[in-house]
Amino acid sequence: MNQHVVAIFGGAVSGAEAAHQLTQQGIRCVVFDQNLLPYGKIEDGLPKWHAKLRDKEEANIDEKLSHPLVTFVPGVKLGRDLDFEDVVQNWGFSAIFLATGAWRDRPLAVPGIDDFTGKGFYYQNPFIYWYNHKHEPDYKGEQCEVADGALIIGGGLASIDVAKAVMMELVEKKLAEKGIDVNMFDLERGISKVLEKHSLTLDDLGLKGCTIVYRRRIKDMPLYPGETDTPEKLAKAQTVREKVLNNAAEKFLFKVMPCHLPVDKIVENGRLAGLVLRETKIEDGRVLEIPGSDKEVHSPLVISSIGSIPEPIPGIPMRGQVFDVEEGQCCKLNGFTNVFALGNAVTGRGNIKESLAHGRTVAQTIAMNYLIDPEGNVDESFRKKESRVDGVMGDLTKHLASIQPPDENQVTAIMQRVKLLQSKVGYDGNYKAWVEKHRPVRLEELVGH
Ligand SMILES: Cc1cc2nc3c(=O)[nH]c(=O)nc-3n(C[C@H](O)[C@H](O)[C@H](O)COP(=O)(O)OP(=O)(O)OC[C@H]3O[C@@H](n4cnc5c(N)ncnc54)[C@H](O)[C@@H]3O)c2cc1C
Repeated sequence: MNQHVVAIFGGAVSGAEAAHQLTQQGIRCVVFDQNLLPYGKIEDGLPKWHAKLRDKEEANIDEKLSHPLVTFVPGVKLGRDLDFEDVVQNWGFSAIFLATGAWRDRPLAVPGIDDFTGKGFYYQNPFIYWYNHKHEPDYKGEQCEVADGALIIGGGLASIDVAKAVMMELVEKKLAEKGIDVNMFDLERGISKVLEKHSLTLDDLGLKGCTIVYRRRIKDMPLYPGETDTPEKLAKAQTVREKVLNNAAEKFLFKVMPCHLPVDKIVENGRLAGLVLRETKIEDGRVLEIPGSDKEVHSPLVISSIGSIPEPIPGIPMRGQVFDVEEGQCCKLNGFTNVFALGNAVTGRGNIKESLAHGRTVAQTIAMNYLIDPEGNVDESFRKKESRVDGVMGDLTKHLASIQPPDENQVTAIMQRVKLLQSKVGYDGNYKAWVEKHRPVRLEELVGH
């Protein structure tokens, strides 16, 4: 077995894939996650109507983390339970991977709005967390209230998901009041279809619906993953974006207010009661605010869905709102020799495939060029992948050349510390039994879907 031991913080899509790449080469990994389950945004971000995708991705993570060379350490948060600099300087890991995702909402630029969190205002991450778990009989987390006429600030796929969730909550409740029993899975096929079946409209239910407020035009929304570097590609992207948005709006009966951005809040009786919105126009790709166009829009609920950024961890250098990594150096953390960031923590893109691919590239690059004995018995298929990661090496080799694997005493000490942390949360090392025990009750089990 290879002498190296790699610490991976975050066991979800990118962290588990990195562990998989390393264990395939005989490299031992210790995977820490702040939660009892390692699934990250698959469990707490991806809305729960994606039940099949969630189960598939969680099974993939399970397979990777149940490898005998992975030691899983649940319920341990870097920056809270472990000090980053202590881990780097004193534990003796060969390398440290930060696959900690993006769990902080980008702050909404409306002065003082955060004071109204829970009082007419939510950010997307806690809102979707609540939405995904609220049906669990033992759910004890934060409660969110859904109200008609909500304003959802944002323009990406996640803001459409928030609008869908809000609309499904409202309609399900109103239909129940009329004695019509539908669940989220029925509504997810299309609220318009369900209402049509019962010869009802939103108006009949006394609902206005929610509105997505976006600062650019609909055709600018980040809803298309392809390239836009020629006029033809851009035109195609703009058509697709309008189609995606219009289809979702027709199916889930939400509205869209493009070319508006929030500049101030309306407060009534200690609660957020709406926003002051300013009109914009787009010139040469830039958002220009139109002076004198401000208008008050009253609303009992505002949800901000303008993107997620990494949570700062004491000791980890930041560049603006993201980890300070060296471009072209396999996302090596600036000022550190053997610390790397991967997945959502650096891609800035909420996408499973991209997180996975990034975790794979970083792990392969580090393993191939640093952790694997060049004379050693390297898996041939892995060797073939080398060319794919060559391009991201830059000066990395020079940085890493001096790093030694931990000696036997250090490995023993690492494993002793790890055992202590595991025993604090009652984890006995049986990964499969642990995830089974902690997997929450699923809505589909409750509604018989
Ligand atoms: C509303 C919504 C809808 C989405 N829909 C889709 C979709 O349809 N298709 C798609 O491809 N993608 C979708 N995504 C995005 C996708 O879920 C994520 O991009 C992907 O799962 C991120 O994986 P990751 O491993 O990079 O990060 P995460 O899943 O965020 O994993 C990070 C892990 O690190 C742990 N962690 C964080 N901080 C610490 C710490 N300090 N110490 C220890 N552990 C820590 C976390 O608990 C977590 O397990 C959606 C996301 C959202 C929010």
